[in-house]
Amino acid sequence: MNAMWQSTAAAGVVRVALPVPLLQTFDYLCGTFSPQPGARVLVPFGRGRRVGVVVESTGRAEIAPERLKPIAALLDEESLLPPNLLADLRRAADYWCGAIGEVVFGAMPLVLREGRAPAELAEEAWRATAGGLAAREARTRRGGSAALLGALGNDLLSANELDTLLPGWRAAARRLAAAGLIERAQPAREPPCTREGATPILNDEQADALAELLAAGGGFHPFLLQGVTGSGKTEVYLRATERVLREGRQALWLVPEIGLVPQALSRLRARFNARIAVLHSNLAEGDRARAWLDARAGDAAIVLGTRSAVFAPLPRAGLIVVDEEHDASYKQQEGFRYHARDFALMRAQSLRVPIVLGSATPSLETLANVESGRYVRLRLHRRVHARPASPVHVLDLRGLQLTHGLSPALLAALDACIERGEQALVFKNRRGYAPVLLCHACGWHAACPRCEKPLTLYRGRRQLLCHHCGHTERMPAECPSCQAAALIPQGHGTERLEEALAARYPKVPVLRVDRDSTRRRDAFAKLLDKLADGQAAILVGTQMLAKGHDLPNLTTVAIVGVDEGLHSADFRAGERLAQLIVQVAGRAGRADKPGEVWLQTHEPAHPLLTTLLKGGYDVAAALQLGERLASNLPPFTHLALLRAECRQREVLDGFMAAARAAFTPRARANGGEPCGAAEVVRIHGPSPAPMPLLAGRHRAQLLLESPQRAPLHKTLAEGLPQIQARSQTRGLRWSIDVDPVDLY
Ligand code: ADP
Ligand code: ZN
Ligand code: ZN
Repeated sequence: MNAMWQSTAAAGVVRVALPVPLLQTFDYLCGTFSPQPGARVLVPFGRGRRVGVVVESTGRAEIAPERLKPIAALLDEESLLPPNLLADLRRAADYWCGAIGEVVFGAMPLVLREGRAPAELAEEAWRATAGGLAAREARTRRGGSAALLGALGNDLLSANELDTLLPGWRAAARRLAAAGLIERAQPAREPPCTREGATPILNDEQADALAELLAAGGGFHPFLLQGVTGSGKTEVYLRATERVLREGRQALWLVPEIGLVPQALSRLRARFNARIAVLHSNLAEGDRARAWLDARAGDAAIVLGTRSAVFAPLPRAGLIVVDEEHDASYKQQEGFRYHARDFALMRAQSLRVPIVLGSATPSLETLANVESGRYVRLRLHRRVHARPASPVHVLDLRGLQLTHGLSPALLAALDACIERGEQALVFKNRRGYAPVLLCHACGWHAACPRCEKPLTLYRGRRQLLCHHCGHTERMPAECPSCQAAALIPQGHGTERLEEALAARYPKVPVLRVDRDSTRRRDAFAKLLDKLADGQAAILVGTQMLAKGHDLPNLTTVAIVGVDEGLHSADFRAGERLAQLIVQVAGRAGRADKPGEVWLQTHEPAHPLLTTLLKGGYDVAAALQLGERLASNLPPFTHLALLRAECRQREVLDGFMAAARAAFTPRARANGGEPCGAAEVVRIHGPSPAPMPLLAGRHRAQLLLESPQRAPLHKTLAEGLPQIQARSQTRGLRWSIDVDPVDLY
């Protein structure tokens, strides 16, 4: 290092993260400013100015000091991102190979990324006036106004909480405020307290689990809390949270999807009189920023949210809860591909707090960590309300005459369920009417011109849609190849099942729940509301239905697409299917009305099904772990997947060959002996992606694999800068996925 460059440090050089997709940071001179790490600065970049975040002060500039530019303005006197969060973000960027600027900026709410001052974001909370409380009692208000008065009750709720509990509440707030029935107030700052009453006495297992959790004391202690739906896990989280709040510290609760936030928020509100910051994708930007700042200031006692809430600053952290830890939604699937559960573990480690991973069906990764003694497992074996487990019946489809893909025995079970005035759920993980539209005369089938895969038929819309790239076309009236009118839909999607079941049961509502029917913000909640009164009904849906929404009159559950899970090329398909069956089975039945689960399959003797039914999830999971070990798959090895796509095949091939070379240790590339840690990293490919063509782009991938994380990360850290330098080719897109959840 040049001595003259070093001497510039005295003048002050800072390393700044900018929101650009590059692995590096940028150096600037401090000039008259003295920015703290974690503070935002305005800096010259390219032809304009950008908001950046200072990641460290440094003594060694990366370029000659005369070429460094000074900071234009300092936006935060003290750091906006606390040092421990900044350090965790840098660790995360290294681990998941993210661009540091994108990671740091991704952790901040939009309005703060744009450089707004925290002080500009005034707090907003609402409560009912005496007149409002009277109006609620007397029920003089209807619709949205009544709902808002109901949600407020006697509490002071922040705009952020109202966004979550009652989307679209602001229209009603304007009306009620004008009528003097509600008023704006300052959010409470008193220490949080537990509400009187309504705290159940823990059963023995819950008490043991809680005692073990609390006995661990401070410090990093990872726990798996394993218990079926209704076994009282949430109650244990609440008790642990109570202790943390009493000590004046903060709890972070993560749930896998936005639909589960209102339920968790209601449980927390019912138990604690505390400030709760809610973070998810469905918030007004100002409300999101206020919630984040509330967490940062330590004013929010509880931070509740989906995946990205894991980036909230927690100056007084005491506990992290990750509910449904096995859920794949915790993995971000584009841009910075982090895993929120795993980042929560990193944060718990650096914040030195206990972390509870809860699930009825833990991921194999977590079970392997229990095996190896890294996590302590706490078990809740029984359901709180002594609800019997629902029996699971396997229906052997071989040789049977099927009606719309449904077997006679399943139809009989549905008939009986409707006859008893109860609700049924028919689960099929395939949207649309039929996955293939086929010409019976000549064999032509509708295929995507850009991906060469079959188009899914949506008969209601008279449309063909590509599920891979979104390409649509009108459903043809006749075969485009032979002009015959003999076009027949092959296979069954949710739309077709809905049609068939509606025809068979004309007297009961048949509701379809999938991404197509619930695109609107609160459509899903409305659909579920229709069922809350408990009338007979049939729900047809995709996996959206599997997640913990409670339907008390649901007694019959059918999974009709089991074989798709048994035969998938995805190495996690078996684990997913076992989780799905257990989760869905957990939804059926209640104390006075036992439930029943039906699985349709052509392979009733498949070891996954037989072990799951005989031994339960733990035995099935152990079998799966054995298979992963035998075939050298995660969690027994660690993977990183480089994906790339390009319209021009030659460009793609050239890039992939260069990528392989960049990851190949120099010694081996030169024909010498492999040296150092890199010898345990194996490189597979380049090979065509499982979808080799998507939206007209050729796709390829390269898989890196190692039984140890350190050499894998070393290889990535050495190879990626070279790959990035090469990837400026126009039209070429690439990404790196560390610990991919699937290989697609
Ligand atoms: P899980 O999170 O495992 O699905 P919950 O904590 O939500 O389970 O408990 C299921 C139901 O039982 C909830 O309605 C909860 O209020 C109630 N519950 C939990 N623990 C107890 C208890 N010890 N005594 C009485 N009711 C309980
Ligand atoms: Zn034809
Ligand atoms: Zn397509």
